[in-house]
Parts: sequence; structure tokens; C-alpha cells
Amino acid sequence: MTGGAGPGPEIVLVRGDITEQSVDAVVNAANSSLLGGGGVDGAIHRRGGPEILADCRRLRASHYGKGLPTGQAVATTAGRLPARWVIHTVGPVWQRDEDRSALLASCYRESLRVAGELGARTVAFPAISTGIYGWPLDDGARIAVRTVREAAPAAGSVEEVRFVLFDETAYRAFEEAV
Ligand code: ADP
Repeated sequence: MTGGAGPGPEIVLVRGDITEQSVDAVVNAANSSLLGGGGVDGAIHRRGGPEILADCRRLRASHYGKGLPTGQAVATTAGRLPARWVIHTVGPVWQRDEDRSALLASCYRESLRVAGELGARTVAFPAISTGIYGWPLDDGARIAVRTVREAAPAAGSVEEVRFVLFDETAYRAFEEAV
């Protein structure tokens, strides 16, 4: 489905696998090591091949010696994925806490800012933090949709924000939030 009439990019919901999206940038629900993990992160590195990890290692050796802080975002090549770039962001582990919610919003906002800097027109997001990091889907979806609506108009080049939901439950949560 599509939604989001008004200013700013179109918001699109699809059920599927984020590694298969033909978009300019895919967002990775990474962990702060940037060196791979499970869920979306594992799938992106498996499908994208070793170039992504090589780029991540370079980032660890330069700007992010201690890892990428929660709520921030950084881009690498997308290797063999159909996308041009992977934007890695680190979601918070779930806790009922306003600061953590602000960090989850920051993941969406910072990823969009990086996408705008790259000149990406289409950006695909997973439901950050709602897997291994345990964030409840309905709340994660609300934060995602609200933050993208607020922040995307400032991410100049971005025309479409696609939320890629892995299963029916996640899709419904985002449909509700939109
Ligand atoms: P986190 O550690 O931030 O919770 P996960 O990767 O464990 O990240 O999960 C984030 C969300 O992405 C979950 O809702 C999970 O079901 C979903 N997911 C897992 N693999 C994929 C994939 N290949 N494409 C899209 N979404 C995925």
C-alpha cells in the first residue's frame, strides 16, 4: 500500500525481504560493532557479499573505533545487493523509556539525513529494533512512521520511503500506523 499524501516523499509499505529491494539505499538494522549479526544484518551481509564488511572494517579503523553509537547512521557500498548503498544504523534494545524511544526515532531521522546527503531517491527501511532487540511492533511502527513523516521532507533527494516488512504481523502494524 502507499500513503502519505501531502508534502514530502511517498511512504510505501511492502511485505518482503529488504535484501531484494531495487532502491537506491537500504537501511541495515546493524549492531554497534558494524561487523555483522543476525536478522536483517546477517541477511544483508550474506546477500551483499564481503565488500560491505570490508567497508565496515574500514569505518571501524577510522571514524568509529569504538563502534557506531546507537541512534546514528553511516553508509557503505551495497556490494552485490540491487541497491547502491547500505545505510547502517544501530537501534536501541527495547525498554519502556523515553530516551530509548528518542534513540529509535533518531535511527530513522539520521538514516534519512545520510540518504539525502548521498542523493538517494528511494530508501528502504526494515522495522528497526523489532527483532532481536525486542521492541514491540505497534510502538516501533508508530515511531517509524511519525519520524519519517516529520524528517523526510528535509532529506531533499528522497522521493520514496519504503518500509519492508518481513511478515504479516509487521505489515499490519505499519498499516495501522500509517
Ligand atoms: P534488531 O536487532 O534491530 O531488532 P532484526 O534484524 O533482528 O533487528 O529485526 C528487525 C526487523 O526486521 C524484525 O521485524 C525482523 O522480523 C525483520 N527482518 C528480519 N530479516 C529481514 C529481512 N531479510 N528483510 C526485512 N525484514 C527482516
